[in-house]
Parts: sequence; structure tokens; C-alpha cells
Amino acid sequence: MTEIEMYIDKFPNYVFYGIEVEHPLYYGEVNKTANKVIIYINTLQPEWRQLNTIVHETGHADFNMYGDDKRWSIKTMLAEKQAEYVAKHFVV
Ligand SMILES: [Zn+2]
Repeated sequence: MTEIEMYIDKFPNYVFYGIEVEHPLYYGEVNKTANKVIIYINTLQPEWRQLNTIVHETGHADFNMYGDDKRWSIKTMLAEKQAEYVAKHFVV
């Protein structure tokens, strides 16, 4: 089992997809639908970045903190701050 799989295993309630996006600043995203949370991880990023993305995006889901579609809105910035905080304090 890889370290990435170990992290993903911690979140059995969420569905994870590895995707390949050739953009140096695209790490992944979380998408909440009516009955499930889907998390996309850009597998072209280095492993440490993918691990950070996993805990960042699950942080959004765990605390139900999502931004809106505007990158710099108050709602989005608050959600990003919270997810960063969670990711920083996450321990496997
Ligand atoms: Zn985020």
C-alpha cells in the first residue's frame, strides 16, 4: 500500500478519483453532490502535494466548508483558510 492509499483509506465515506491535469497549480478539488462527496486528486503533482491535497479537500468535506464559484469571495477565502488549517494539523 502506498502512502497515498493509506491517506485515502482514512476517509471511507468519500469517493476519490485520480485525474491528470497538466497545470502546475491545479492540485485537486472536492465536489459535494446530494448523497456523496467526490474528491479529485491531480496525480501529476508530486506525492507530498497529493497527500496535502487529500487532507485539504477532506477538510472542506469534514467541516462542510465550501467556497462558492468566486475565487476571492469571503466565503471561498474562509473555506480555504479552514481547509488549510485542517490540513496543517492532520496526522495519519
Ligand atoms: Zn480548498
